[in-house]
This record gives sequence, structure tokens and C-alpha cells, in this order.
Amino acid sequence: MLRCVWGWLLGFSLHVSCCSVCLALLRARPIIQYQTVRYDILPLSPVSRNRLGQVKRKILVLDLDETLIHSHHDGVLRPTVRPGTPPDFILKVSQWYELVVFTASMEIYGSAVADKLDNSRSILKRRYYRQHCTLELGSYIKDLSVVHSDLSSIVILDNSPGAYRSHPDNAIPIKSWFSDPSDTALLNLLPMLDALRFTADVRSVLSRNLHQHRLW
Ligand SMILES: [Mg+2]
Repeated sequence: MLRCVWGWLLGFSLHVSCCSVCLALLRARPIIQYQTVRYDILPLSPVSRNRLGQVKRKILVLDLDETLIHSHHDGVLRPTVRPGTPPDFILKVSQWYELVVFTASMEIYGSAVADKLDNSRSILKRRYYRQHCTLELGSYIKDLSVVHSDLSSIVILDNSPGAYRSHPDNAIPIKSWFSDPSDTALLNLLPMLDALRFTADVRSVLSRNLHQHRLW
């Protein structure tokens, strides 16, 4: 009987100490809700400024739906913006590139979304809509030569590989965004976009990325 009581006490004390260890571990573990991505723009060094002066200023063509925003309809059209889009992404890349909007959506919708993103800053002045796309086998293709004849200095960021089927060497693929508040895909591109503007021909870099286009 005495042996049973000792056994029960030992088991109880082991259970209590295990719970204490678990609680201590839970308290010690940091709670990470969302990863933040930070990319500060540093002043150009003389070497970088010299290099930038030798190459053309690049154009970055931005898709809207599921790249920068996602819209849903509940009687009223409600666009929501991908995390990081207005303050960080658009403002930073506008210092490096001429920004152009190219959406396969109707102009009445695309222009309203672009106005909202631009917020009277005149950053998204050049815009192309469904009527500027080519319809092939039921899908809309974005012909970049409509935007600029020199394909060495134009980049398209689009969640649909089919949209840039004619220009895969000019494309940066990105995963479609619908609602994830912890998404960092746009902000993750900032270091690459900062570097890409120094190349003479964007295709020399982006053609290295073709294997990724099949992912999304
Ligand atoms: Mg899209």
C-alpha cells in the first residue's frame, strides 16, 4: 500500500514537472505572426551611378488582378490590395522604373483600380486594357511591343504566364494573390528589381528564370 502511494506521488510530481517545462517553453518561444520584409533604398555609389548612366531607363509593366490587387463582387465591386503594394512596392519601384499598367480587364474597371493605386501621384499614367490585348484561343495575350518597341528594356510582372506567352524572356512570374495578409511576394522582388535596372538587356537575366513560369 505504501509502495502504491509513493508510486502515485512520484507519477504526479513527474506530470507536474513536465507541465512546468512545457509552460516554460511556451512562454520562452517568440510568437511570430507575420514575416515583415524590409528593403531600404540606399544612395547610389559613384560606380553604380556611372553604370546606370550607360543603360536605358527600364519600363516595368504591372498586371492588376491577382498581382497587385484582388477584387470580389457582392453587388458592389470591392478591390483589396496585396500587402505592401501601395506604400512600399509602387513607391519604391517608381524611383527605378517607368511604371505602366497592363490589364486584360475592361478599361472602366482597370482605370478605376489604377486611379486608386496611383492616389493622384501620377506614377501610373500609362495604362493598357483589354482592347490592347491580342485574343488567342480564348485568352488575352499582352503584346509588350504595344508598350515599347525596344524589348531589351521592358519587364512585365504578371501572375498569369499565358498573358506574357509572347515575351517569356521579359517576364517576372509571381504567385497569384487572393487574400493572404501575410503575403510578401511583391516585397521579396525589391532587391531583384533594384539590381535588374543596371543591366543592358533585361532578357539576359530574366531568361534564366524560365523554369519558374510553370510553377504558377
Ligand atoms: Mg492577373
